[in-house]
Amino acid sequence: MKLNVGEIIRRIKEATGLGEEFIKERIKAKREELYGLVSEEGAALIVANELGVKISRGEEIGRLQIKNLVKGLRNVNVFGRVIRIFGSREFEKEKLKGKVISFLIGDETGVIRVVAWNQLADLIEKNLKVNDIVEIIRGSVKEDSLGRRELHLTKGSKLKINPQIDFKLPEAEKLKQRAEYSLIERLEEGGEYKVVGTITKLLGINFYKICPYCERVVKENSCALHGQISPSYSFALSFILDDGTGSIRVSIFGEQAEKLLGVGAEQIMALVKGKEDLLKHFGKIIGKEIIVIGKAERRRENLELRGKKIMVKFSPILEAFRIVRVLKYGG
Ligand SMILES: [Zn+2]
Repeated sequence: MKLNVGEIIRRIKEATGLGEEFIKERIKAKREELYGLVSEEGAALIVANELGVKISRGEEIGRLQIKNLVKGLRNVNVFGRVIRIFGSREFEKEKLKGKVISFLIGDETGVIRVVAWNQLADLIEKNLKVNDIVEIIRGSVKEDSLGRRELHLTKGSKLKINPQIDFKLPEAEKLKQRAEYSLIERLEEGGEYKVVGTITKLLGINFYKICPYCERVVKENSCALHGQISPSYSFALSFILDDGTGSIRVSIFGEQAEKLLGVGAEQIMALVKGKEDLLKHFGKIIGKEIIVIGKAERRRENLELRGKKIMVKFSPILEAFRIVRVLKYGG
């Protein structure tokens, strides 16, 4: 059977309850993401797959990943590792009495809160433990009042605890760390965030003059506060940070940048003056996992993160190498 885009959209609509406009937008975005290299039909099929919609009989569909759970999706089947279980509470609404419980699950692409009521809430309270794997069958994706996604178990939904699976999910401890950080795909202009990710590309180093007394950026060797001064140099370092859900351009400044590169501004200045290849000198930061605290700002078209503070994540492997080196060579 030949499938056209209209037919695929119709199937997605039917299976998920999502609006046509939304689906079309997503297909368009998918084509752009793939640089227009796939046909509209191809993009529509990928979107269907991401949303867990089976298009033809016998065709295997990929697992529905948590990052693809969008508001309005119904009847979704999702696998996740339990990261945290929140206490249940009883509620009374008009004549309805009941119980509600929620817990966090995660996979390699994201984290989502799951909400269940009554008998399912009882079952979860009695049997579910942190680090269990759950399969949620026929859940619905909603949004809470803060616009965060939630996966609701409603009438007709099911939950399997520790089903047989043929893929791996990260351990709860790892996912928990992630949950403490904002996901790059969810950053919004103006927000203050703490993100963790891997540096995938070094973009550049830019120098500017600062007043040695107050550290304000100065032009022409004159500080608004301190008059004629002989300026010091500081610099901005920019790179791409990726956390698996997305990537963003990050800029960090002065001391924070020196900390990451492991050298002072004067030394970097000397390298720049000597026309040295900075990437060769600082390529070692690529692949580093760091935490950035900063503000998301829009520059030109794109969202960027202006870092206020960075922390280089402790790497058990590097630490082990360090210890071996110390034991073997004394430092
Ligand atoms: Zn000054």
